[in-house]
Amino acid sequence: MLLGLGVLLTGAVLGYTGKSPAPVANSVYEVYAIRYGIIPDFPVSELVAGADPSRKMNIDMMIWLVKSPGGRNILVDSGFYRAKFFEHWHLKDYVKPSEAIGKLGLKPGEITDLIITHMHWDHADGVDLFPKAHVWIQKDEFDHYSDPANQVKGVDPEDMAVLSRMNHEGRLTLVDGDAQSLIPGLTFYTGGRHTYASQYVSVRTRAGTVVIASDNVYLYENLEKHMPIAATFDPVSNLKAQDRMRTLAGQPRLIIPGHDPAVFERFTKPGGGVARID
Ligand SMILES: [Zn+2]
Repeated sequence: MLLGLGVLLTGAVLGYTGKSPAPVANSVYEVYAIRYGIIPDFPVSELVAGADPSRKMNIDMMIWLVKSPGGRNILVDSGFYRAKFFEHWHLKDYVKPSEAIGKLGLKPGEITDLIITHMHWDHADGVDLFPKAHVWIQKDEFDHYSDPANQVKGVDPEDMAVLSRMNHEGRLTLVDGDAQSLIPGLTFYTGGRHTYASQYVSVRTRAGTVVIASDNVYLYENLEKHMPIAATFDPVSNLKAQDRMRTLAGQPRLIIPGHDPAVFERFTKPGGGVARID
């Protein structure tokens, strides 16, 4: 048996053509979670359906950078910065998202693309902090919240106005539904139903496919207890989306939730509020 294996290996070596290895495609990315603030003592019952109402935890406010070796810098969500939000929300360790990317050596003008997973203020308000970014949002999300009849707490009319202006300027791509592979190595998915048409993305990396769930999964606890997020249009659809993320991700650990501080405990490098997902 051992000899046979040796022969096989030799054959494999002899079969080598001598050409250099295939180049790493530009569509294999590095993915980073970047913390831009902390909300202390947030009720877990607003994150995980059915959680004990007395439980509280500090939650992290995050954006995610998807970086290609070819110089494409895709930001997933933009965080927030407008003053009005600080009147209600008292954040610890807040860093303006356009400055937080400086921890990875980037300036706002170097962000080439900005994917907005959903229109909530803490994900979409910073959309105009990145002057060169082309913006990607689900068409149904944009259309739904553009209609004044669908105004809800959490979606800021000023943010919608900024998005509308960008749309007129040709800076928006309205993604038309589920399983859209519009950027090489990156696919958009719907079905999480955190908002009307919230989306999440899968990204090809060296470690396997990473799923940036954003708020379609708030915490690891949602995945581990198989519980829907507390804020959803449709808990059944949300659980289905979570199950699907498991099939998409290279490993379960590569599903990245939207607000869980444990992201920075599970992925400790490079540190200082930045976690490389690998
Ligand atoms: Zn959020």
